[in-house]
Amino acid sequence: MTAHPNSTEARDIRYHLHSYTNARKHEEVGPLVIEKGDGVYVEDASGKRYIEAMAGLWSVAVGFSEQRLVDAATSQMKKLPFYHTFTHKGHSPAVDLAEKLVSIAPVEMSKAYFTNSGSEANDTAMKMIWYRSNALGQPQKKKIISRRRGYHGVTIASASLTGLPANHGSFDLPIANVLHAGTPHHYREAQPGESEEAFATRLADELEQLILAEGPETIAAFIGEPVMGAGGVVVPPATYWEKVQAILARYDILLVADEVICGFGRTGNMFGCQTFGIRPDILVMSKQLSSSYMPISALLINEKVYGPLADESNRIGTFGHGFTAGGHPVAAAVALENLKLIEERDLVGNARTVGAHMQKRLRELADHELVGEVRGLGLIAGVELVADKAARTPWKNVGALGGLVNGHLQENGVISRNMGDTLGFCPPLIITEKQVDDMVDAVKKALDTALPQVK
Ligand code: PLP
Repeated sequence: MTAHPNSTEARDIRYHLHSYTNARKHEEVGPLVIEKGDGVYVEDASGKRYIEAMAGLWSVAVGFSEQRLVDAATSQMKKLPFYHTFTHKGHSPAVDLAEKLVSIAPVEMSKAYFTNSGSEANDTAMKMIWYRSNALGQPQKKKIISRRRGYHGVTIASASLTGLPANHGSFDLPIANVLHAGTPHHYREAQPGESEEAFATRLADELEQLILAEGPETIAAFIGEPVMGAGGVVVPPATYWEKVQAILARYDILLVADEVICGFGRTGNMFGCQTFGIRPDILVMSKQLSSSYMPISALLINEKVYGPLADESNRIGTFGHGFTAGGHPVAAAVALENLKLIEERDLVGNARTVGAHMQKRLRELADHELVGEVRGLGLIAGVELVADKAARTPWKNVGALGGLVNGHLQENGVISRNMGDTLGFCPPLIITEKQVDDMVDAVKKALDTALPQVK
């Protein structure tokens, strides 16, 4: 690239290593520098505006210019910019947020615990599960079952739970005690003619076989996203969660719902657990908790988890875990105000109504020659691209077509993200039907531009 040596772009290449980026390619192409946000739009350094169709990283529920969150942060920053929750200390934003989260939980929960990212929260969940097993005198009960294409983060433990090759290869992961079950993706994984229900039954049977092969007494927990996000927006087949939960109950296995993307309205209910009838023992949340204006994540744990954990901390003398910034007062104050906005403006209702419109409009693309499947619910969707519709095969290699169309889409003023060949759509919950129409028109145009390049 030929940017001025002192430009942001040139300095970025010189000094900055990016997440989820091919570092060598980045040296050639440089960054797209985003300077401003306004509602569902962001603006780059050249003044070009984009619909942020991924809400940043599936996260900015209230849009990119919410003054009330700025004010909540400012006033908390002035009053008490930092305090912690170690060694019996506390502060009111953390207490208020803990109370609020327990009160809106989809099932009865006992306590909230605060961390700073989804990865830290899932790492913490794993540690709590191990700690609990030890407390119960079941030191052999340590294995956790996740799923292929599930996404739970990037720390050593949470990346192990994640079921994507890029998070394991060359990182020497996964660690021991993590197992991966099948992906509930009917379009890709079902056998010819297999109904959604039959597919769900088969996945539940396979899960049971895995548990029996490993020894049920060694399996502590199962973790899953209600709808898989980064694995390509995978909506589970009908009856899947019901059947999985029956198996877990049979072998006394805890359930962790990773609501980091689904939580706070995304699927058209406050939690994805409500959409799918999931009754977790641990519920993990982040992202839309604060609309990502501040880093914060949380776990809700039920009495089954809290009781043994409290006893073990009493036996040892402390629960030897905690992050300096966990439950940071500014982040907690922002999260509280963010939840108020979600409720006051009925953004969950918006996710339902505008979400239904988005699903309908995106499904109109299903007939396009390059579209294999359109899937999703509420305000989360995936459009999976294929070079050959009948054979469901990719163009060149997996991700090539997704990258091509995503590039055109960005030129057309919409930021999406291709996960392999699936384009993700997960806009801010404040999006309007008109903005959805603009977004879908841009997708259609990008597909039409790509078609002659591929065929
Ligand atoms: N869990 C889910 C479902 C996620 O989508 C993500 C991030 O995308 C994480 C966990 C990890 O969160 P973080 O990136 O904040 O560590």
